[in-house]
Amino acid sequence: MSTHPATQALLASHPFEFSQFNKDLFLKSFQENAFYHYDHHDFTKKLWDKLGFHPSQLKTEKDLELVPGTMVHLFKEHELCSVPKEELALVLTSSGTGGQKSQQFLSQESLDNVKKLALTIHQALGMASEKKYNYLCFTYDPAVANDLGTAFTDELLTNFTGKNEVYYAIQWESTKNQFELNEKGVVETLKRFATSDIPTRILGFPALLFEMIEKYQLNLNLGKDSWLQTGGGWKGKAEKEIPKKEFREYIQERLGIPTQNQRDLFGMVEHGIPYVDCAKGNLHIPNYARVYVRGPKDLSLLPKGEKGLLHFLCSYNFSYPASSLLTTDYGRLGSCDCGLEGDTLILEGRAGVSKHKGCALKALELIKA
Ligand SMILES: [Zn+2]
Repeated sequence: MSTHPATQALLASHPFEFSQFNKDLFLKSFQENAFYHYDHHDFTKKLWDKLGFHPSQLKTEKDLELVPGTMVHLFKEHELCSVPKEELALVLTSSGTGGQKSQQFLSQESLDNVKKLALTIHQALGMASEKKYNYLCFTYDPAVANDLGTAFTDELLTNFTGKNEVYYAIQWESTKNQFELNEKGVVETLKRFATSDIPTRILGFPALLFEMIEKYQLNLNLGKDSWLQTGGGWKGKAEKEIPKKEFREYIQERLGIPTQNQRDLFGMVEHGIPYVDCAKGNLHIPNYARVYVRGPKDLSLLPKGEKGLLHFLCSYNFSYPASSLLTTDYGRLGSCDCGLEGDTLILEGRAGVSKHKGCALKALELIKA
């Protein structure tokens, strides 16, 4: 039995219905979460005390803006955790280089929560299905890398539909003692899937897929029931970045995947909430989170539409005190007319790219020139 009823009530509610009742569910859940970390995480308590914030101040939606953001680099440089380590069910790590690893500590309750909310969000976006799919995942085989953020995400995503074959493209080469992208395997697998009666889902980094299509001159028709689910952005390949709309058309032309079945996902290991494209290609913000955009100089709250640093709130994690996360990512809030309620998230790049080489970049380095 969960000891956090407000959070369970929130996660049982629809992710994209922003009624007053639902918004209050987030407020109550966030307060429950804030009290927990305040009482169980010494650093958070000291920080909030110093800044004059206490969870009891959270009485209205507007009060959520007062929660101090903890800088993302603190989570990269220190192991911040609100439960004894032996109570953790999973430690998720992104494969950063230069010692700057991103990680997240998950108790069983928090792990169950994040799995549940990811499923609900994908269901609400029409992406979950009972139907069987063949999967091509441009990631590490979770059998050898389950604690890596990307491998975890991909394994999670493949569970939202029926599964036929799952092909993991980044494989451990024991002779070389390193991970390698099996390019030949990818091409063969795609060609095989194109002739199968079972539709395909490709999970991967957009740049990686683009480079594979170009390098191997791929021209396939995976069928109108096939999907592409991207994540990780064009980090490290920014000069090759194709605008999203153009990329969606390119994929439709080269792989036969309809544009409305191409969905991008933005997520951060430290935050864990998936921001996922609707059929129109806009990342929607669920009621399980709040996204504030702040001025880089004084962290003042910017109005909707203006570009600034992204500040994320979430409430599902009772083992990792990143409920209020101030990032080094730029973005702004937008709107979408697809019928889903709530704001959309428009990404505008990252401050100091080279410092944060993430999973996506590491994977891109695996493509042989
Ligand atoms: Zn939309």
